[in-house]
This record gives sequence, C-alpha cells and structure tokens, in this order.
Amino acid sequence: QNLPADPILENSRRQVKSACFSYVIPKSPSQPEILHVSRDMAKTLGITEADISTKAFLNVFSGQQVLENTRPYAMCYGGHQFGNWAGQLGDGRAINLFEVEHDNKHWAVQLKGAGETPYSRTADGLAVLRSSIREYLCSEVMFYLGVPTTRALSLALTGDDVLRDMMYDGNAAYEKGAIVTRVAPSFIRFGSFEIFAARQDHKTLKTLVDYTIKHHFPHLGLPSKATYIQFFAEVSQRTLEMIIHWQRVGFVHGVMNTDNMSILGLTIDYGPYGWLEGFDFGWTPNTTDNQHKRYRYGNQPNIGLWNLYQLANALYPLIEDTEPLEDILETYKGDFEKKSLEMMRSKLGLAQNDDQDSMLIQDLEDALLLTETDMTLFFRNLSNFKKGDGAKGLDIVKDAFYIPNDIADNVAQQWRDWFKAYDSRLENELLSDEKRKVNMNATNPKYVLRNYMAQLAIDDANKGDYKRIDELFQLLKQPYAEQPEYEKWFAKRPDWAKHKVGCSM
Ligand code: AMP
Ligand code: MG
Ligand code: MG
Repeated sequence: QNLPADPILENSRRQVKSACFSYVIPKSPSQPEILHVSRDMAKTLGITEADISTKAFLNVFSGQQVLENTRPYAMCYGGHQFGNWAGQLGDGRAINLFEVEHDNKHWAVQLKGAGETPYSRTADGLAVLRSSIREYLCSEVMFYLGVPTTRALSLALTGDDVLRDMMYDGNAAYEKGAIVTRVAPSFIRFGSFEIFAARQDHKTLKTLVDYTIKHHFPHLGLPSKATYIQFFAEVSQRTLEMIIHWQRVGFVHGVMNTDNMSILGLTIDYGPYGWLEGFDFGWTPNTTDNQHKRYRYGNQPNIGLWNLYQLANALYPLIEDTEPLEDILETYKGDFEKKSLEMMRSKLGLAQNDDQDSMLIQDLEDALLLTETDMTLFFRNLSNFKKGDGAKGLDIVKDAFYIPNDIADNVAQQWRDWFKAYDSRLENELLSDEKRKVNMNATNPKYVLRNYMAQLAIDDANKGDYKRIDELFQLLKQPYAEQPEYEKWFAKRPDWAKHKVGCSM
C-alpha cells in the first residue's frame, strides 16, 4: 500500500478522514466450514488442490486466521445511492486480506461478511448464507458468461447465526452466517474517488487517482491532466462494455449506486440482482426500487452514464476543464447506440451490416413485449431458424412464450411479420445456417442463473444440503454448451416461482 491509512487501529464505526482505508481484524467464526471452492479461481491465484483441503485454507478464508506479514483492511468510499449523495459508506462488511501476484496477474482477495469495520454504519458487518450463495454463484457464472466481473474463491459457513429481517414476511429471524471470499484486480469504486472530492480533500483524491493509474492503468503513463482525462475515457468505455454484456445476457444488477461501480468496469456487489425471465425493459429485481424502477433492465445504460457524470465531477478538481469530460460523456452516448446495435446483431446472427437493422431490432423488441417471452429461451431457440423458415418462425421460438397456447391473433400476426422480415434479412448473410447457429450460440447462453434456480440451492442449503450449489456451479461453468445431462435447466421459470426473487441482505 502506498495510500494513506487511517491511523486508528480498531474496527469501531466512525467517519474516517484523509485515509483511503483502515486496518481491521476479521471476526473469528465459531465453527467455520468451507461449502464450496471455485477450482478455477483457486488455480488462478496459485492455490493448489492440496492447499484447498488444508486447515489453513479453511482458517484464512473464514476469517479465523490472518496470515503472517499481512494486514487486513477495509476501504473508505462514498456513493450516490438511488440518485442521492449518501456520504461515507465504505467496506461495511468486506475486509481485504491481502494481494496476490500470480502468473503476472495481481489480485486483491477479500472476505465479505467477516464482521464490523469502521464503515459498518448501523449494520453488523455480517452476511447470511442466502445472499452469500447468490453472490458466490453469480459472480462465477458471470465470469463463465464472459461478462467482466469480480470473482469468488470460496463460500464458507461461519457457524454463527445472524439476525435478519426477512423481506417476505417482515419478521426478524436468525439465519446461517456465511462468508464469500471475493477476488478482483482491485475493488476500487467510483465512490472511492467521490468521497475525497465531496470532502474537498484534493490531496488524497490525487494520491488515489495516481495510485489507481499506476497500478491498474499503467499504459496511460505518468500523472498529468491529459492522463486523468484518458483515465476517465477508459473507465467510461469499460463501464459501457460491461453494461452491454449485462444487456446481452439479461442481467439486471438492481443497485447501480456509484459505490457499486468498479473503476475497472467489473460487475461488483451481487445483492438484489436478477435475471430476466420474460424480456421486459421495465423489470427490476430490487423490491425496494419498485416505485421508480431506477435500476430497471432498460435503464442500466443510462444509469451507467449518470454514474459516470458523478465520477467526472469527482475527478474535475484534478482536471479543471469540463470540456474533455463532457466530450467523453457524449462519446458514451454514441458508443452506446453503436455497441448495443452490434450486440443485438450478434444475438440475431447478423454478421453483415444493414441500415435497416435498427428497425428490425426495434420491431423484435416490440414483439417480445407483446406477451411474456423468456429471453434466454427465445434467443437460444432462434439459432434453429434456417433461411427460408419465415413461416415456421413462430413454431421455432414458441417454447419461449410463457403461455404458448394462448397467443392472440394480432400477436401471432406481428410475429409472423417479424419472422418474414428476419428471413429476408438473412438473405444478405453469407454464412451457412450451421455457421450462424454456432455464432449465435456463442453469444446467447443456453443456461443462466435463473432467480428460482439460486433460490432452490438456497432452500436446500438452509436445510443443510449443499449439493445443489455444486450442481448449478458445474452447469453454469459452461453456459453456452449443450449439456444433455442438464437439459432440465433449459426451461422457463416454473409457475410457482413467479414473482419470487431471492433478496439481498
Ligand atoms: P450495498 O447496497 O450492498 O452496496 O451496501 C451499501 C453500503 O452498506 C456499503 O457500504 C456496504 O458495505 C454497507 N453494508 C451493507 N450490508 C452491510 C452489513 N450487513 N453490515 C455492514 N455494512 C453493510
Ligand atoms: Mg455495495
Ligand atoms: Mg451489497
């Protein structure tokens, strides 16, 4: 660390000034148990199969033991929550253990749920099994889907009970405490910069920006106003790319507050996230955002831009010129149009460009909204469409309709029109049907972590059965592959799971 540290060495809650982080001690769990390990992640960190079964692995990744010569710390950051400045937030329940260099890659390793830190505010610093399973599985699934994301190394039980308000019935209940070990090149967020700008602490702001560029954007060169502008441009670009991936796979983050925006453009903080079942721009899994639906699927790209405005404001004191920052934000808007068009083209298997494509896509989105249509099934099944299949289109995708046997005539007509247009558009394509299918299946996942799937794993785990966690983990390691043994997961959400989304805290 060459960042300023908080001189106070205790975990008690407080405002931390002029420091980027505070040294803390993880809470000792009473009966830790490792429930699952991401083997690929372990390997990436240089942790061997033999290491995984040691007592040391259990102790370190449950907060029981701090490795010699390491100093765990929690980071200070602020953030805009639901559009409002919220002041100091910080790692309220995340504790960075250490950083690892392996294969020329640099990783920060942190525990989530290992007890209070100076940033815990009114909460306990703990995590329950339910939300930990959701974070553990989803971050690895996103990685295998090719979406930029923080990773997870392990999921552990602490053996301690944690008191939580259950979202479903409003009653408080004890739940199993758990810890996810998260991994990323860095956990620095937009809010890490905002906090120093808000406090007009431009000295620490500059130290953090210089540190971030030196360690994570070294190709941008030495600190200067021009470098800071380049830095902002690259963060904008990475943020946009990440969100385009979310739109592609139907992932809705649910809490795109600026404290949950990684400076590296990684998906971070898997809380009340959800996956689109029926394609719906207006959908959000976050029940606390039900009124304004600020973080709904269709609004994610706009929120990315809004968040970048906040980051631009935070960096402004080091740049003192609004024009280049505004230009970058303008570029985001144009790039968004371009990249989402490219992304939708790839979902449709269109390798050529055609001026009419935006219209074809607009018409498709209109059709998808007519009746509840499963996004994953629709795009996956669409790859079975062959040139000349115009009249058969509806049959090919019919499984994706939640009520397949009750399609109104006008709806069916709109679909027939669309498939006719799609079929004639395919005439401009040079690839064979087979080749196009291969390409489409590499961009349209067959399996995603449907909300009810995570919930099934959680229900089992609460009864002490952890097999489903591994089943989903294995399935979702290859989300684009045909996996006949797992065909049952290539299906719509069952009726019982309607309107049920696992919650976050
Ligand atoms: P989130 O909405 O999950 O991004 O959390 C917002 C802020 O609340 C962050 O500073 C978190 O560290 C903090 N936080 C969330 N849950 C807890 C908890 N159980 N204990 C302490 N801090 C928490
Ligand atoms: Mg957060
Ligand atoms: Mg969270």
